[in-house]
Amino acid sequence: MDFALSEEQRAFQEMAGDFAREEMEPHAHEWDETSTFPVETLRKAAALGFGGIYVGEDVDGSGLTRLDAALIFEELAKGCTSTAAYISIHNMAAWMIDLFGSDDQRERFLPRLCTMEHFAAYCLTEPGSGSDAAALRTKAVRDGDAYVLNGSKAFISGGRAADLYVAMVRTGEAGPKGISCIVVEKGTPGLSFGAQEVKLGWKSQPMTQVDFSDCRVPAENLIGGEGLGFKIAMAGLDGGRLNIGACSLGAAQSCLERAIAYMKERKQFGRALVEFQALQFRIADMASELEAARLLLHKVAMKVDAKESDAVRGHGQADRHRYRLQGGERGAATSRRLRLPARLSDRAVSARRARASDPGRNQRDHAADRGARAAGGVRGDGEILCGAAIGTFCSGLSSRRRRGSSTPWGWLCNPMGMILWLLVPRLRGDDSCAEATRG
Ligand SMILES: Cc1cc2nc3c(=O)[nH]c(=O)nc-3n(C[C@H](O)[C@H](O)[C@H](O)COP(=O)(O)OP(=O)(O)OC[C@H]3O[C@@H](n4cnc5c(N)ncnc54)[C@H](O)[C@@H]3O)c2cc1C
Repeated sequence: MDFALSEEQRAFQEMAGDFAREEMEPHAHEWDETSTFPVETLRKAAALGFGGIYVGEDVDGSGLTRLDAALIFEELAKGCTSTAAYISIHNMAAWMIDLFGSDDQRERFLPRLCTMEHFAAYCLTEPGSGSDAAALRTKAVRDGDAYVLNGSKAFISGGRAADLYVAMVRTGEAGPKGISCIVVEKGTPGLSFGAQEVKLGWKSQPMTQVDFSDCRVPAENLIGGEGLGFKIAMAGLDGGRLNIGACSLGAAQSCLERAIAYMKERKQFGRALVEFQALQFRIADMASELEAARLLLHKVAMKVDAKESDAVRGHGQADRHRYRLQGGERGAATSRRLRLPARLSDRAVSARRARASDPGRNQRDHAADRGARAAGGVRGDGEILCGAAIGTFCSGLSSRRRRGSSTPWGWLCNPMGMILWLLVPRLRGDDSCAEATRG
């Protein structure tokens, strides 16, 4: 079993870490204090390829793997967890369009999402449906060449700031099978926003209610066909949870590093805190728990990547062929999009050479994955559970240690742990969701 990262992965990791240290961390406090959505910083991140990390290269994405994304999000979260988490939501929404959208939709929406000229929001939750997402009530009624939307979405990250709202709406029967996914563009008459939610933290990502009132959305914005919305939403969350797990890990790692630095500097009873053995043990425990969480996260990410490759064999052959015929080779001819700074690019180039024996691999895997997903193939069950478990675990770890609590409340009181817990119906045995996600 090889636990080592490739040279290219280490280069991505280092680049994301440098970006977080130089461009995010110095401003994170101010962004939180002033509730600033850091548009320019986000676009700089996108210029490095972080706007579409696992979106196909043919539409300007970086075409990387889930493991690559986990490495990147962990590093970004060390600089500003809230901003990194928004980037992960944006990536999730972009990926949903990439995988389930038509060629036309991919070409229309994705290049500008990958540069973050446009920002995306994911709209599932409603005032009356949170964990029980399949009970959502926002209605979309077909009227000629459009759907007319009425209803409200709650707690939407990127609300008002975003340009594209990937919304889950009811076009049919009650339950998950009556839900569809549609992209609502900013400026569409009938789309409006509530006030900014007042939060205790995570203020660099704006959050509002999103309201639709006789909002006419072109039918060509429907993603993947009527009735597929719940499946698309859950597929998005599968990867989203993995990313949030990585963000939680980055936040916890950063807390640990800061604690160690402080213990070296702070003196009590004539000695630096770091010299007290009892504290050393506590730090060692935290470091071990974090490393265990990291291994679990990476293992799950690799499994998800591997599962996607497996799925291609059966479901993806036709789509792979179709993709090639329709110009998939364009992407293969394009260099990988993650923009490494000059001092890292040499290392990446040599890593690329090592992969030269199979130059079209990423493009093929991606195309095949699209085929498999579209055919209703793969589910990331392990990813859902483990990504959430890791996120809850890591964020709970920092909260519990900080509070000195030995009860589960330390875990549950941490916002990130809570979000993940709330977002995982399977952990609570929610039947409607389980049924709907069985594929
Ligand atoms: C920071 C943040 C960002 C968010 N961003 C987005 C976004 O971008 N897009 C979006 O669509 N949503 C977003 N949300 C909303 C989030 O997805 C919901 O908060 C979540 O789905 C839970 O819904 P709820 O808050 O209505 O809680 P509820 O579903 O009302 O749950 C309340 C409590 O009851 C528990 N509970 C519920 N059902 C069960 C059960 N069957 N068994 C046992 N316990 C149960 C829950 O665990 C929870 O503790 C965000 C939320 C937060 C906090």
